[in-house]
Amino acid sequence: MTSHNSFRASVERMFGNAAALMELAPGLEEKIRVCNSTYTVRFGVRLRGQIHTFTGYRSVHSEHMEPVKGGIRYSMDVNQDEVEALAALMTYKCALVEVPFGGSKGGLRIDPRAWNEDELERITRRFTYELSRRNLISPSQNVPAPDMGTGEREMAWMADAYKRLHPDDINAKACVTGKPRHAGGIDGRVEATGRGVQYALREFFRHPDVVGQAGLAGTLAGKRVIVQGLGNVGYHAAQFLSAEDGALVTCVIERDGVITNPQGINIDALRGHIHATGGVKGFAGGDHAENGLTALEGECDILIPAALESVIHAGNAERIKCKLIIEAANGPVTADADEILRRRGIVIIPDMYANAGGVTVSYFEWVKNLSQISLGRLERRHEEARARMLIEELERISADTGTNFELARGFKDAFLHGADELDLVRSGLDDTMRESFKKMKEVWINNPKVEDLRTAAYLVAIRRISNVYNSLGL
Ligand code: GLU
Repeated sequence: MTSHNSFRASVERMFGNAAALMELAPGLEEKIRVCNSTYTVRFGVRLRGQIHTFTGYRSVHSEHMEPVKGGIRYSMDVNQDEVEALAALMTYKCALVEVPFGGSKGGLRIDPRAWNEDELERITRRFTYELSRRNLISPSQNVPAPDMGTGEREMAWMADAYKRLHPDDINAKACVTGKPRHAGGIDGRVEATGRGVQYALREFFRHPDVVGQAGLAGTLAGKRVIVQGLGNVGYHAAQFLSAEDGALVTCVIERDGVITNPQGINIDALRGHIHATGGVKGFAGGDHAENGLTALEGECDILIPAALESVIHAGNAERIKCKLIIEAANGPVTADADEILRRRGIVIIPDMYANAGGVTVSYFEWVKNLSQISLGRLERRHEEARARMLIEELERISADTGTNFELARGFKDAFLHGADELDLVRSGLDDTMRESFKKMKEVWINNPKVEDLRTAAYLVAIRRISNVYNSLGL
């Protein structure tokens, strides 16, 4: 890959398009654009009778707010260019959705399928030690999270490794997010990015003017959706959209092929099949084809790339047939493709907004860890008691006045239910997705020079970051 069309160059080009529309203080554009530092570590772990050397990265894009935040990816494709691009996206993502963090990202060049659980634990603990030595994992300075190839299990190992290194740090749990609940995690973090994609689409469909721009109308119900990647993000997005909003997932593209079903695929059944057999082949609820490359170009309303970066590029952008793309993955559309799709009138809901659900709920988890109490623990029963008082009073009035009205069973149960942690997490996430969309839309609609939502998202993010720099006196 040449540096010209690298992932980082692509992100920088999109950033540049937006920055060109702003009047930033001299030199500030460059200061915001560049990645502050990237640490590369090579460490050895003795496994299977020999020392294996692994290469890891942690890139810090911007420290205008601390801690800096972003996931750690385990993949053989990890490289410095990718980690830096992803760290930059974290900076803009956090600024756009008003999560008070700077941007960072990490990666370990490893094939997680090639190692067993014990081996992965030893490798992860050793990597954590290397990061900790340089303050690249710390509740106040740098807080990693899951990304491709990592999940709750790895985060629990990291949190424990950190705690052993810093036994006197009362906030140690907040050194990483995406932990399992029993290790200080928060309800709703695993589903968060997919849930955020759903909330983003729901908000999009609340605005008939922008829905019209995409050549669509109505609601999510009945819309035909193609999903690329049924990992954590793609699975939850597809599952929620089909089970709760009536969308039809007509095609799922996976590593080992494509499943299509014009009537809509049962996502849970497909996920179960993948878990049981390791792939989509042989799934009874749709037709299977080997070649996934052209499936992205299939006829549909909404395309959800939820796997790798740069899957829509200058080579296939002309053939993409959807009306709306929602970028559940980071960077799935290259800068070249972005221009082609814009010219063709295809609307893109950009990654830094569309997949911000993960880091948003990570923020709630971090706050929970620092406050050492689960969300809703103090208020829940009190809230229920007040609701009960109201219901009992209404029932008393009804009896006294002989009006004999009766509340519907469903209403009563729902009204008497005090918000638990999951309710609060979803409420906070929904609010974040709605408010951030409105900000983006405002800029898109009101500024004739802003041609798309991505540029609008960058404008909102860059404006906020520049305000911080300006008040820092830089
Ligand atoms: N890796 C996720 C992302 O790309 C989550 C980051 C986080 O929670 O810090 O947004």
